Amino acid sequence: MQQARCQKGTELCEGDDHTLSKSSESESDQTGHGTDKAACSGHEQSSIQLSLSGNRTDSQCEGSSIKRRRQDNRIPLERFDRKYLSVTDLSRQAWCEQQVVYGMELPHIQQLRDEVPVVKTGSSIHLARELEIQDVVPINIESQEDSWGVKLLNFLSMIQFLQTGECVRELPVFGELEGIFLVGVIDELCYNSSGELELHELKTRGQPTLPRAAQRKSYHLQVSVYKLLFEAMIKGQLNKDTIIHHLHLQTERSFGSEVIAYAQKIGLSVNTFGGLLDLIFLNLMYTEIPTVDILKIEYCYQADASVIGTEVVCFEEEWVKKELKYYCSFWKGQREAKGVDIEEAWKCRTCDFADICQWRKKKAEEAAEKNQANHRK
Ligand code: SF4
Repeated sequence: MQQARCQKGTELCEGDDHTLSKSSESESDQTGHGTDKAACSGHEQSSIQLSLSGNRTDSQCEGSSIKRRRQDNRIPLERFDRKYLSVTDLSRQAWCEQQVVYGMELPHIQQLRDEVPVVKTGSSIHLARELEIQDVVPINIESQEDSWGVKLLNFLSMIQFLQTGECVRELPVFGELEGIFLVGVIDELCYNSSGELELHELKTRGQPTLPRAAQRKSYHLQVSVYKLLFEAMIKGQLNKDTIIHHLHLQTERSFGSEVIAYAQKIGLSVNTFGGLLDLIFLNLMYTEIPTVDILKIEYCYQADASVIGTEVVCFEEEWVKKELKYYCSFWKGQREAKGVDIEEAWKCRTCDFADICQWRKKKAEEAAEKNQANHRK
């Protein structure tokens, strides 16, 4: 089995991640790098503090640049120039929404985070897993249509393997939920000995311990959203117009030569993005793929790639939809970004943005005032 991977022009390769293994979900042109930190213990925030720490001048500078950006009163999705969100954006939001916003406002800090060894090691482990069952073919792309074409071709070829009962890894999924286009990459889909379809997500960790409940909650959201997206695709609930509407791509635009050659290699004769969309939806009409029965998260220790534990996630549709509604309401400008609650202030200790975080400052002031009031009683 082969999977194409956008090679050159990574600025065109939005959402095509995999510049660092399982990173396809983040938009590389929006956040600097398409790194899936959630899959690399990013939420643990390891113990590495990046450049904001202890540099007052830099912090003041960052503060005024953030202020300027906030004077832009477009909704966050437009302000950050996002045509879509990655599922890991949502998962990170579940950890701390304010942190996600700072990451987008200060993409150079986000890039530094993506360069830390803990993130790179996680990406390497993902890539090694993928290469166990499929080859990665580098493809040079020339346009956004090429980038999305590669994603669609990968999806189509993997669906065919899945239909014959094989296991697939790094399956791209996408679709509209809560009015926002979401893009994700499923680590693995495979059938178990009872014929049930299992969705597996790999999380690598810097310590040989299972994550705390707060972190696991964000992962539960991630795998549950993957299930929703995947099932909407195979049930034909995603349509051509939705994709074109959100991604603003030109259906008549011809693919670059390498994309056309890759399509031919997997048995498809298609030259344009619109042609490929038609082919995808036609294929899906005649494809019988079951829905996902089981969601599993495997935690793996980075130092020796040993398995720390495996968690079976109970899919609670009502809960996922409620969470999605809440997180998406921020992107649609229906509410302000929220930082962590005081009970979860421990998350701030290792946050790269702790020095400039206004939410944290406000919460600290509120706590101090409350303490003083209690003392006066
Ligand atoms: Fe969130 Fe705390 Fe970081 Fe602020 S300092 S962004 S509240 S984790």
